[in-house]
Amino acid sequence: MAQYETHRTCGHTETVNLFGKVKKRFETIEWLETQPCTACKRAQEQAMAREAAEKAGRIQLEGTEKQVAWATEIRETFFTWLDRQPKETIDQTLTILDKRLYAERPENDPDSIAWREAEAEKIKAALIANEPNLRQAIESQIRRVANSIASAKEWIENRMNTSVFVADLTAVSILGRDVDNAPVTFPAGTFGKCKNGVFWLATTGFVEATVQKFRCELAFVKAEKVTENPDGTISMSRRVAQKALDDAADRTNANALSYVTVTLRGANIE
Ligand SMILES: [Zn+2]
Repeated sequence: MAQYETHRTCGHTETVNLFGKVKKRFETIEWLETQPCTACKRAQEQAMAREAAEKAGRIQLEGTEKQVAWATEIRETFFTWLDRQPKETIDQTLTILDKRLYAERPENDPDSIAWREAEAEKIKAALIANEPNLRQAIESQIRRVANSIASAKEWIENRMNTSVFVADLTAVSILGRDVDNAPVTFPAGTFGKCKNGVFWLATTGFVEATVQKFRCELAFVKAEKVTENPDGTISMSRRVAQKALDDAADRTNANALSYVTVTLRGANIE
């Protein structure tokens, strides 16, 4: 590997590390010298995203200058993707809607099927009131919701999967309620507390030594996401509780998992 100075179209000089055959290195340098430097290229890309956002009339993002520039690019990439492949985000929205309806009425509830069907019909009727068909109606909702997310930080945090991020918020908006953030209360003893304040899903009741060993590793929930009630019960959002179950599933054996699942079902979580 060797370092080379390249003179770019923007007038800047950029040092690059190249390796491999000499002929190939010189070809790369030749090509690089037809390009602007990395910093100018980034600035160019950000300016393009900013112009596209202005042209499309998107809402102003909130955050530091750096966050806004980055998030503007992320958001434009999402909208470009949505223009090309609306099917993916629409399908994700439908899947999440379905999942959320399931979560609201567990399967062991005898009326759940009829209830879910009735809810789905209600949602559909409301959606297509002003649109030619359901998919187009959902796409309009996706566009509206995506253009209402003003936090640059949120776009950046979800940059790896903007489609699911927007689909989830769209599902919440269509449902008009967010059960994921509704609090769920667990009986005293379901969660234990580690010395550093982190809560873990308690597995007391296990006799197997191996399982005891897992005790503090099953699922951690940060203290700030947990409310300790005066009567010893513990509350957290359904989303956080669900994540605890998923973590437990990743970390433990089938026995421990079935116990955890039963415990969570007691609090109406599956
Ligand atoms: Zn430059």
